[in-house]
Amino acid sequence: MLDLVICGAKIYDGTNSPSFYANIGVSGGKIVQITRLPLSGHQVLDAHGLALCPGFIDTHGHMDSMLAQEPLQRAKLEQGITTSIGGLCGGSEAPAVNPDGSLYTFEKYLNELSHTSMGANLALMAGNGNLRICAMGYSSSAPAPGQMECMKSLLRDAMQAGALGISFGLIYPPASYASIDEMAELCKVVAEYDGFAAFHLRNEGDRFYEAVEEAFEVARRSGCRLILSHHKATREPNWGKTLVTLGMLDRAAEQGLEVYADAHPYTAVSAGLKAYIPQALHSSGIEHLIEMSSGGSSKKALTEAIEQSLQSNTGHYKQTDPPRAYILASRTHPEYNGRRIVDIAKEQGLSFAEVVVNTLHDDGMTTTGMHVDIMHSADVNRVLRHPRVMLCTDGSSILPGIAVHPRVRGTFPRFLGRMCIRGGLMPAETAISKMTYLPARVYGFRGKGLVRENCDADLVLFDPMTLCDNATVSDSTALNSGLKYVIVNGQIVVEDNQANGRMHGKLLRRRCPVQPSCAE
Ligand SMILES: [Zn+2]
Ligand SMILES: [Zn+2]
Repeated sequence: MLDLVICGAKIYDGTNSPSFYANIGVSGGKIVQITRLPLSGHQVLDAHGLALCPGFIDTHGHMDSMLAQEPLQRAKLEQGITTSIGGLCGGSEAPAVNPDGSLYTFEKYLNELSHTSMGANLALMAGNGNLRICAMGYSSSAPAPGQMECMKSLLRDAMQAGALGISFGLIYPPASYASIDEMAELCKVVAEYDGFAAFHLRNEGDRFYEAVEEAFEVARRSGCRLILSHHKATREPNWGKTLVTLGMLDRAAEQGLEVYADAHPYTAVSAGLKAYIPQALHSSGIEHLIEMSSGGSSKKALTEAIEQSLQSNTGHYKQTDPPRAYILASRTHPEYNGRRIVDIAKEQGLSFAEVVVNTLHDDGMTTTGMHVDIMHSADVNRVLRHPRVMLCTDGSSILPGIAVHPRVRGTFPRFLGRMCIRGGLMPAETAISKMTYLPARVYGFRGKGLVRENCDADLVLFDPMTLCDNATVSDSTALNSGLKYVIVNGQIVVEDNQANGRMHGKLLRRRCPVQPSCAE
């Protein structure tokens, strides 16, 4: 007798092939039968009128940083994500320096995770910021030969333990202090293991083309496979630039580089509020910034530096941006969450920069911000349509009382239901392949991303007529609609858009055990 039978669903198998109708039998966490014949099982789901596809793969997220607090990964499961990749944008949980000065290695980290209950399957990158901090603290200098060797050896350990590759966070100090030479050296190590380098580019605006070229140059020098993370053109003067950058991606692929990108379907971005502080000031470390922001002349200098960088248009943010900036998540000022910074400033009779500095200080520099309408929907859609682009949330988790970018909650239903099935951006088959088989193939997740016999039973059952996101800036945790069931490793974990609390996710290591005879 089968564990679970799903009857009568319209099946999208993940490969961009035409959909078909069949019954599915699941046993031992695997899809064991796909047939037109009737099946019987311990549990039977009547799926007439519903669509079935492989569980979604979120190629870029940050849930790893919150896994200890929220192992269920509710925000992932409740949008149909059954596998996600973390450790991106230059930041991972390991390697890291323990409070006693000893090293927390990637191997130890993965070994711990392999015994941890979690809602969705998880695979991880090692952040270049972590390597730098372990080898040379927050210094903005180029690494000395010994420090470079230290970073390479930590990276080699991470790759051997099962990291997918390295992530670069080229706007986040100290990850952003990495030069092209340093990145190429590190990527040579990753290439030895056939891994990936994922780039949060140095610039997604005025110097967007140069930033893309920099990533390609690292790939050329190192032979490493490359992912352009959350690909987007930000700020009005740069709208339309994705036309050129996607052309660059095509040319790089024609030249033999293995290059892909991922993107989320929103025109808003989210980032740490500390990105307002000019890069050079970060080199003395977080503690120093907290101290600087505590008062007196150093606080005044910090505030002025932010104002100056906004005015001079040289910083990460520009003077045109403040009206579009919100505080999403402040630990110490939850009353700010979901509100515009300019409104808070007006209310308190302070400047924009003063509110930024005060909030960052109180939060220990951890405040999350968000900029709305910083992208154009034509760029967003163009990127999503590109055949080498996969779907990602760039999101972490939902914790009580904390507002998040709506993408954390709604990315996959928004893209598939709202934008593709009903919006006509692309056929459902194509959209689903970008969310399932394409990333499974790119990252080598054998047995994932496919509705085939012997593949893992990570499945999503949805109503194509009603599937959509409902999260907004002011109500960022609203449940999605139209997700009937989500199944992870053969177990039902979501019913009617809500997680039931069961955790069946597994840690995936690079070259995780091959699933024998899982047809591709
Ligand atoms: Zn990023
Ligand atoms: Zn990210």
